[in-house]
Amino acid sequence: MRKIIIAGNWKMYKTQEETLEFVQAFKSKIEDTDEARKVILCAPFTALGVLSKGLHGSRIELGAQNVHWADEGAYTGEIAAPMLAEIGVSYVIIGHSERRQYFGETDETVNLRLKAAQRHGLTPILCVGESKAQRDAGETENIIINQLKKDLVDVDQNNLVIAYEPIWAIGTGDTCEALEANRVIGLIRAQLTNPNVTIQYGGSVKPDNIDEIMAQPEIDGALVGGASLDPTSFARIVNYQ
Ligand code: PGA
Repeated sequence: MRKIIIAGNWKMYKTQEETLEFVQAFKSKIEDTDEARKVILCAPFTALGVLSKGLHGSRIELGAQNVHWADEGAYTGEIAAPMLAEIGVSYVIIGHSERRQYFGETDETVNLRLKAAQRHGLTPILCVGESKAQRDAGETENIIINQLKKDLVDVDQNNLVIAYEPIWAIGTGDTCEALEANRVIGLIRAQLTNPNVTIQYGGSVKPDNIDEIMAQPEIDGALVGGASLDPTSFARIVNYQ
C-alpha cells in the first residue's frame, strides 16, 4: 500500500512568530482528517525549532527544505542531516527546482544529499520535473527519466518520496492537468524498482484543484507551496474529498 502524503513547502516564508500563529490555527482544522493521510510542514531552518515544539503531540510531521551531503565539516552556511534529525525533522525536500536553478544543484549533488539524508534516518522528498522549454520541445519524458537515473544511484527506494513538479507549474497558477500529471507520475513509477514509493504532484496545488488531483490513481499526495502558507487553505487541501 502506498502512503498518502500532503506536504507544505513554505520556501523562504515565515518567521518564528508567524510559524506559531500558523500552528495554532492549523492544528484544530485538521483534527477530523483521516490519520492515514500524512501531513508534513517543510519550514525554513530557523522555524524548525519552534515548529518541532509546537507540533509536539500532533500528527503533523516536520520537514526541512534542503540538507548538505556531508555529516559535518567546513561548509559555511550549510546544515547537516544529524542536525536535522536531532531536532525531530523526519522529511527533507531535495533537488527542488529552485535549488537546481538558483543554487547550482546538480543531479550529482542531489544524489549525495539523498544518501546523506537516508544515512541519518530522514526521508527525502526528491523533486523532479521539466521546464516549459523542455516540455514544448517534447523532452519531458527524457528529462525525467534522466533525472531519476542520476539522482537515484544507490538510493534506498524503501525510504523515499518523489514529487513530480513541472517547473512551469510552480508558483504560476498554471497547474498541470490532473490527467497529464497522472500520466507522468505513472512514467516515474515505471522507472522505480519499488512500486510502492509515494509520488506526489506539485505545482500550483490549491483548494480548488486538489480534489481532482487526488482522484488520479497514480498520484499519492501533493507538495504545496503558496497555498500551504495559509492555515485555512492548507487545511482544505489536507481535507481533500
Ligand atoms: P506552488 O509551489 O504550490 O507555490 O506552485 C510548489 C513547490 O514549489 O513545491
